[in-house]
Amino acid sequence: MNVILAKSAGFCWGVKRAVEKARTLAQTKTVRTDGPLIHNTEMLKRLENENIIETDDLSSIEDAVILIRAHGIPPERYKLLNSFNIQLEDATCPYVSKIQATIEKHADEDYEILIYGDRGHAEVIGLVGFAKNRGHVIKTEDDINKLPDFPKVCLVSQSTQNFEKLQIIAQHIKDKFDEVIFVDTICNATKDRQKELVDLSKKVDAMVVVGGKQSANTMQLVKLAEKFVPTFHIQNHEEIEPELLKQYQTIGLTAGASTPDFIIRKVKDTLEKI
Ligand code: SF4
Repeated sequence: MNVILAKSAGFCWGVKRAVEKARTLAQTKTVRTDGPLIHNTEMLKRLENENIIETDDLSSIEDAVILIRAHGIPPERYKLLNSFNIQLEDATCPYVSKIQATIEKHADEDYEILIYGDRGHAEVIGLVGFAKNRGHVIKTEDDINKLPDFPKVCLVSQSTQNFEKLQIIAQHIKDKFDEVIFVDTICNATKDRQKELVDLSKKVDAMVVVGGKQSANTMQLVKLAEKFVPTFHIQNHEEIEPELLKQYQTIGLTAGASTPDFIIRKVKDTLEKI
């Protein structure tokens, strides 16, 4: 089987930066991450062996560093973490910090903030916190229709959403509200990955997308690839089903932003042996 690996597959620089920061800190202290550092079970196990551990019990931490992950957190959470007598380190991705700042600025100018994203996702929870009670998470046109007629709105997006769908949502919002500021906040890493996936999908017989089931950006890749070719979402090489794949000659391979290289390599090797 011929396998074409997308150049953009795997860790984005924001996740890479957070993992490197955690590893550097772990050389001298136990690192407790405020939520899972990345959405990948195998990588989390490796990090645990390096003394980088997710925590949800902040009260029992002594002599540890608390690390804020790339998704960022709401301001109230910063305050809470700061109230403990512990070292606090921030690995919020600079792209996400920029979205937070955009939201805060426009909320201060009395705009209602419309956040296109997945309700309950850690990044979105953080973003809503910066909207000062003016935040509204939207995902569908129906969500927009249900909103009151706000005099002015500012639309931003979770950094890992689908670029094309955001344009459609933006148009719908422009049709409904009088004054709209639209700031396209899908990060470049996400856009590059999605664009490369579309190009690759047109050249292959099927796509394999590697990434966690909880990973928002992986799920976006799966949905996008499905528009073009049969698509298989797996979390690691053990989930490959040769019987299903052997009918294809050329497979495209990509992976979500929290999929480490060692998993992608194993998947590629396994596919090539089919
Ligand atoms: S997907 Fe984009 S915003 Fe999110 S961590 Fe990676 S680079 Fe940063």
